[in-house]
Amino acid sequence: MAASGNVGQELLAFATELYPICRSITGNGLRDTLRRIGRRIPLKIHEVPSGTRVFDWRVPLEWNIDGASIRGPDGRTVIDFRDHNLHVVNYSEPVDAQLDLDELRKHLHAHAKNPEWIPYRTSYYTRNWGFCLPRLQLDSLPRGRYRAVVSSRLEAGFLSYGEFRHRGASRDEVILFTHACHPSLANDNTSGLAVATRLAGWLAESPRRFSYRIVFAPGTIGSLCWLKRNERALARVRHGLVIGLLGDSAPLTYKASRLGTAEIDAIAKHVLTEIAQDTRFIPFEPYGYDERQLCSPGFDLPVGRLTRSVNDGYAQYHSSGDDLGLLSAEALARSFEACRRLIDAIEGNRRYVNLSPKGEPRLGKRGLYGAVGGQSPASRELAMLWVLSQSDGNQSLIDIASKSKLGFAAVRSAAEDLAKAKLLRVAGEPRGRRAARRKGK
Ligand code: ZN
Repeated sequence: MAASGNVGQELLAFATELYPICRSITGNGLRDTLRRIGRRIPLKIHEVPSGTRVFDWRVPLEWNIDGASIRGPDGRTVIDFRDHNLHVVNYSEPVDAQLDLDELRKHLHAHAKNPEWIPYRTSYYTRNWGFCLPRLQLDSLPRGRYRAVVSSRLEAGFLSYGEFRHRGASRDEVILFTHACHPSLANDNTSGLAVATRLAGWLAESPRRFSYRIVFAPGTIGSLCWLKRNERALARVRHGLVIGLLGDSAPLTYKASRLGTAEIDAIAKHVLTEIAQDTRFIPFEPYGYDERQLCSPGFDLPVGRLTRSVNDGYAQYHSSGDDLGLLSAEALARSFEACRRLIDAIEGNRRYVNLSPKGEPRLGKRGLYGAVGGQSPASRELAMLWVLSQSDGNQSLIDIASKSKLGFAAVRSAAEDLAKAKLLRVAGEPRGRRAARRKGK
C-alpha cells in the first residue's frame, strides 16, 4: 500500500491547525473546531440546549474560558493557561482565591508516571476547579500564599456537534464517528478529526451505493445527543465505524462490534489483514470511545472501531506528551487509506445468486477467459469459480474472499464480470418485478 506523501502532509497540517484550540464537550473551542472542519467540507452544525435530557443524561451548562493563572508568593506567575490549555482542569468553574500551598495542592494535578508531562483532567459533571502541571514543577513550589484565578463561564448555552451527509443511491446508511472534545491532544483527537474530514471530502467525490454520515461530536454526551436526535433513523444504519487515535506509530487496531458478528467485523478482518498484516483485532469491551453508546444494547448498532494505539494504550495518553511529535504524515496517510479501503469494501460487499447453478457454466463461450487488468487468466478464472460456487444468496463477497484467500478486489471484479455476463444477480433484488418490467417494454 503506497502511502501518498501529499495526503499525509495535508492531514498533518490540519491536525496541527486544530491542535492549539481549547476544546471541551461544549463551548467556543468546540465550535471553532467545527467551523474549521466546515471550511473544508459541507458540515451542518447542530446546537443542543443546555439542560436537554438525553436518555439518562442531561446536557451540561456551556463552558468557556478566557484565561487562568496561578501567581506565587513572590507575585510571579507560575502557571499560565496561555502556555498550555491542559494547565486547567477542563470545565473548571470560575475562581479567584488566595490560599496557602497546602490548600492549593488539593486543586493541583500531576501525571502519575512522567514528571515532565501535564496530565489531561476534566470535571464535567462535578463543579470544581483545578490546575495541572508537571510533577517537577509541583514538587518545587515554595511554601507561602498563592493566588489562583480561573476566568471561565458556566452558563446556559449549547452543546455543538457537526454532521456531514452524503446521499448515496440507497437510503441505507453508513455512519462514521469521531470525538471532537479533547483540547491540545494530538493523537487522541486531532488525528481523528483530520482523517474524518479528509474522508468526507473523498466520499463526496463519487456516487456511492450507501448514504453516509460523518459525525464530529463530543465524546459520550455528544454521541448520546446525536442518537437521541436520530433515534428514528437508526434502523437505516447498515454499518458504522468509530475512528480516532490514527496518527501514531502503533499498528492499526480494529475493535469489534458488541457481538463481533456484524458485517463490518468480517469486512475489517479481511481488508485490514490484506493491507497491513500486523493489524491487531480486539474484541468488544464496554470501555473506549463512542462505540460505548452506539453499541449499547438499546441501539446495538453494527459499529466497529479503528485506531492505531488504543485508548490508554500508550504512555503519552491523556497528557501533554500526546503532542504533534507523536504524529507522522505516513501513519496518518496509511490510516486514511485503511478507512478508504474499508469503505470501498462496504460499498462492494454484495451477495449474489448464481443464475446457472446446475453444474459449472461454460465461461469460454461467454468470453470470460483471458487476462484483464494485469491478473493472470488462471487467478481470474479461479476467482470466478469461487464466486459461482459460493453465490447462493447467503455468502457475501468478503466471505468468499476470506474462504478462497483471494484478494477482495479480485473476487469483486470477478463477480462484476459474471453479473455482466448474466451469470449472477444481486441477492435480494426483486427478480419478478425486473422480469415483468422487461416484459412490459
Ligand atoms: Zn481521550
